[in-house]
Amino acid sequence: MITLKNLTKRTVIFNLPHAVACSEDTCTCSRVKVGVVDHDKVSGDRTVRAVNQRLGHSVTLFPKGTTDAKGKPIDEVSGLLDNVAQVSEVRQAKARFEIEIRRDAPVAAPAATPAAAPVQAAAPRPALVSTAASADPTATPKE
Ligand SMILES: [Zn+2]
Repeated sequence: MITLKNLTKRTVIFNLPHAVACSEDTCTCSRVKVGVVDHDKVSGDRTVRAVNQRLGHSVTLFPKGTTDAKGKPIDEVSGLLDNVAQVSEVRQAKARFEIEIRRDAPVAAPAATPAAAPVQAAAPRPALVSTAASADPTATPKE
């Protein structure tokens, strides 16, 4: 996830087309049916078929230093997919130093670290057990 911050004194709006800004599992686009006219050049017949399309969304960055009524800055928007940085309008604005792109602090990191720790702690135990079992297969000291 990334944050876009407006560095200018004017409102900046980016259109976020589905093809660039979305991933399949996190798509928030509106889905609409659009009528497309097919024209048969031989017979001259025209038929209308419905096509499902996705309408991308947009992100609005208010002028630098703007805050809401509670004093929270609204010149930046966080929690955007990484793909948003690849939208051409966003890349061009970054190149013109009109916006800043920051990587958000990973929210899932505290949950991921304890989850990873038991896996690492559990891994040596089977290795030790198997090593001990293979080291003295004939010893059987308890019997
Ligand atoms: Zn989408």
